[in-house]
Amino acid sequence: MKAVLLDRDGVINSLVYHEEAGVIDAPFTRSQFKLQPRVPAAIRLLNDLGLKVAIVSNQPGMAKGHVKPQVFKAFERIMLSEISAAGGRIDRIYYCLHHPEAKVAKFRQRCRCRKPETGMLEQAASDLQVPLAECYMVGDGISDFLAGARAGCRTIFVGRWKCEICQFTEDPHVRPVLVAKSLWEAAQLIQSEATGVSCKDFRANCLAVRS
Ligand SMILES: [Mg+2]
Ligand SMILES: [Zn+2]
Repeated sequence: MKAVLLDRDGVINSLVYHEEAGVIDAPFTRSQFKLQPRVPAAIRLLNDLGLKVAIVSNQPGMAKGHVKPQVFKAFERIMLSEISAAGGRIDRIYYCLHHPEAKVAKFRQRCRCRKPETGMLEQAASDLQVPLAECYMVGDGISDFLAGARAGCRTIFVGRWKCEICQFTEDPHVRPVLVAKSLWEAAQLIQSEATGVSCKDFRANCLAVRS
């Protein structure tokens, strides 16, 4: 495998419960943007395995009027500085800023980049000069592994629900290949695949749904 494509919200940074709206969503303000535990170390581990790392993220927050552009840029600065402080590196970042029902007209469109469409994954693979079949797609949402599966990536679902999420996708061909509790655990799974060391430490947590 040559590269790891990462979703952002719920994988790199934590999701936020927005009490006023009663929804769990991406952070809207600077103080809500917090990296998940051991994310910088996980990214460094992926770098050390010789894998390219890119972010492919649906970010409709500006389109919906939830996030100001300068705050959106600040999220990226915070993320990159914490990752680089741990010696990690993100090679490329792609955002889909569109939403079909956006309040802000310039973002209101049906696009080929919004996951589960595959536009961002294709762009990332092309820019990184790696085949999509040699990319992992790591995400915490159904749209992540749908996009990953359609693009032909090896999919890793990150989350606490393990494969209970699979019940929402009836077609067995769109289930994630691997399941991990966190990006750190996903990075260790990737390491175990890269080094051929068995994944026995993860027997309780990881589940090969489709090999
Ligand atoms: Mg997500
Ligand atoms: Zn888009």
